[in-house]
Amino acid sequence: MFDALKPQPADKILALIQAFKEDPRRDKIDLGVGVYKDATGLTPVMRAIKAAEKRLWEVEDSKTYTTLAGDPAYAAALSGLILGDTVETGRIAAIATPGGTGAIRQALELIRLARPGAKIWLSNPTWPNHPSIIRFLGIEMAEYRYFDAATRGVDFDAMLADLEAVAEGDVVLLHGCCHNPTGANLTLAQWGAVADLLIRKNALPFIDIAYQGFGDGLEADAAGTRLIAARLPEVLIAASCSKNFGIYRERAGLLLAIASGAAKQPVLQGNLAFLNRQNYSFPPDHGARLVTMILTDEALRADWQAELEEVRLSMLGLRRQLADELRRLTNSDRFDFIAHHRGMFSRLGASPEQVEAMRRDHGIYMVGDSRLNIAGLNAATVPVLARAIVATGV
Ligand code: PMP
Repeated sequence: MFDALKPQPADKILALIQAFKEDPRRDKIDLGVGVYKDATGLTPVMRAIKAAEKRLWEVEDSKTYTTLAGDPAYAAALSGLILGDTVETGRIAAIATPGGTGAIRQALELIRLARPGAKIWLSNPTWPNHPSIIRFLGIEMAEYRYFDAATRGVDFDAMLADLEAVAEGDVVLLHGCCHNPTGANLTLAQWGAVADLLIRKNALPFIDIAYQGFGDGLEADAAGTRLIAARLPEVLIAASCSKNFGIYRERAGLLLAIASGAAKQPVLQGNLAFLNRQNYSFPPDHGARLVTMILTDEALRADWQAELEEVRLSMLGLRRQLADELRRLTNSDRFDFIAHHRGMFSRLGASPEQVEAMRRDHGIYMVGDSRLNIAGLNAATVPVLARAIVATGV
């Protein structure tokens, strides 16, 4: 049986982690994997999570199954964080999922169930797991241009031009904020233009929001998603708590599916629960419960927001420092885009050879497409990276 298996392609980011581990240089810098790190290189457990875990241990008297859809209080709390009161709750179907990846997977399975021929449109570039899962499920996909290699911003005219080819019933995958891997994001006016197009094409928006609070703040980062949810009849939203609650390994995600009317919600909800049942029955609950406790307790929520804001501002500070340092070294504003990008990542625009040279000559590890994790830096390593960028001729 197992002899029939072919080796799977190695995950590039996981291979990079391994190469970093094996590098004996003491001054090496890891800008690869997409995990927040503080100035000392640690990925801390957030204070509110620690407090909620302590409280949970005291009050939790059973670990019997939740419902197939997960705890409804989790869906309500997280949906409130993402959508505010943009959508009437009677239209929202939701399931808890193992992480944001689980929500993406379930959304794709729902699409395949509802409309087997639908094509999914992805930004070029996008998080590599998007095309990987879509291909695995045998769903058709297409790309729309997104990143402008010259300005390192969004090539919005090209994006809209490509989306003109979207057919009725197709699905357009959008990053809610903090685009991975580029760091380049749509303005609210551009979100509005995308909404116009989707309405005109009768296409379904599918928003992946994995970094709410990492860009311009919790509310601002949800603004594009809310605009779409307010204007489109049907919307899919895959959310992750991995980053903004720092609970990566707990696997807390949520899939929201907004129906065109409250009367259509029960069938949608039933299908989501059915998909959970087929794939893993009951979703994990520990991380979800911590998130619910934090979002529904005034003091815990305030402390979580304060710490998330510290995280966001520290990344913004590093962006500014790096852009300033490169301004000084190159005597130009060529790298100002680093300060304009938002979230954990920026695509530097270096060639694969330059990425390799930075690894070989300077011990600086970034993904092959020159995505760098800003949170992998600190005040002392920013000048080291800036010098390496200039020395490598980026
Ligand atoms: N979407 C994007 C764009 C991501 O970058 C990530 C995390 N790397 C996810 C979704 C899902 O993360 P997780 O499954 O760990 O919650």
